[in-house]
Amino acid sequence: MSTVVRDVSIFGEAIAYFNEAADLLELDSGMRRILTHPTRQIIFSIPFQRDSGEFEVFTGYRVQYSFARGPGKGGIRFHPGVTLDEVTALAFWMTWKCAVVDLPFGGAKGGVTCDPSTLSSSELERITRRYAAELVEVVGPDKDVPAPDVNTTPQVMAWFMDTYSMHVRQNQPGVVTGKPLEIGGSRGRVEATGRGVTICAMDQMQQMGMDPKRASVAIQGFGNVGMHAARLFAERGCKVVALSDVTGAYCNPKGVDVGAAVAHAAKFRNLEGFTGGERISNAELLLLDCDVLVPAALENVFSAENAAKVKAKLVVEGANGPTTPEAARVFKERGIVVIPDIMGNAGGVTVSYFEWAQDRMGYFWKEAEVNERLEDVLLENLHQIRAIADKRGATLRTAAYTLAIDRVVKALKLRGIYA
Ligand code: NAD
Repeated sequence: MSTVVRDVSIFGEAIAYFNEAADLLELDSGMRRILTHPTRQIIFSIPFQRDSGEFEVFTGYRVQYSFARGPGKGGIRFHPGVTLDEVTALAFWMTWKCAVVDLPFGGAKGGVTCDPSTLSSSELERITRRYAAELVEVVGPDKDVPAPDVNTTPQVMAWFMDTYSMHVRQNQPGVVTGKPLEIGGSRGRVEATGRGVTICAMDQMQQMGMDPKRASVAIQGFGNVGMHAARLFAERGCKVVALSDVTGAYCNPKGVDVGAAVAHAAKFRNLEGFTGGERISNAELLLLDCDVLVPAALENVFSAENAAKVKAKLVVEGANGPTTPEAARVFKERGIVVIPDIMGNAGGVTVSYFEWAQDRMGYFWKEAEVNERLEDVLLENLHQIRAIADKRGATLRTAAYTLAIDRVVKALKLRGIYA
């Protein structure tokens, strides 16, 4: 594992970033108090039966952090490391992410503490359906709209949507996004987060005077985000010098054949045994000599210690929360530019918004239209963040939080606090 083991609250650390921007905005203490408390945290048991007949009980979570700007929005994570603290931090980040790209959503997140690698497809379906059934009253197209996250796929979204629709006795595709195309998904959604990573990276590279055709990129994580980002970086002429997943990292200074890696992962479910690069550790990947580094796996990947040794000039956060606050300080001191998670990986939720809108209209857009609108949304807001950073002498992260918090506060003030 290359994640940093830390005995601190992830939500507590997330609040540290919030406070920095709140200071810049001179936010009053009442508003700070409201914005640092989740609206609703739901914890429940998921009894489930293994294929062998044996019963087990997992724990499920849904945290609805804010409804100030619209229905909750945020993915569902199936992972052994899921805790209430982690889900709350992820819901908190979703609030700022939706606001930073100006979507009419609040922030939410969900998860089940389980190890999907030990589950058969029918076991996964049973867990998903029970998880969805427990949430029927609190989710819905105008309440809270889940989506995929780590280890949850379009198929998982299809089971979720079907379970919800069965309970409310009507077809409700808009209750989740990230669905398969055949049942109300959007074209371009599967690769949207990776596409968003590359859109932000290309724009920032241009800003920094870097030529994409001469740039080298290392990517940690080869799932929904990392794999599509790798593919799209290669498509745009960048040299992808390293890839990795939970099985290890694979490095080739001459450029990894991304297509071969995609084919390998499709065949074997991961990169184990991939021969297109020298085997290195995930920790080594982060310190490679490259221009752009994309963490696209889990949180807490950068500590003060390894941030001091990172050689990349630009870090684009595909994962949520990969940089600890100490590492962020080191990056700032060293002049390493970081596009923060709430902007870098906002492509996914942006196309989720498009999917939700298309479901409500019952009219579906062409892929080119989705991609063009995605680029518009991301670049418009990235440019606003950059202008704030320049004006205030802040990092892109603090500037992104400043823009997002300001938008949420405006919505809250207009609605009024129902106290
Ligand atoms: P995924 O389950 O599809 O892929 C995760 C990848 O990370 C896998 O390749 C896995 O092998 C790898 N991985 C796990 N532990 C690792 C480790 N210790 N070192 C290296 N690699 C490791 O998940 P995803 O949807 O690609 O999500 C990745 C990150 O991006 C998460 O932080 C998630 O919250 C964030 N994110 C995802 C989306 C989305 O649309 N899927 C949107 C925004 C943010």
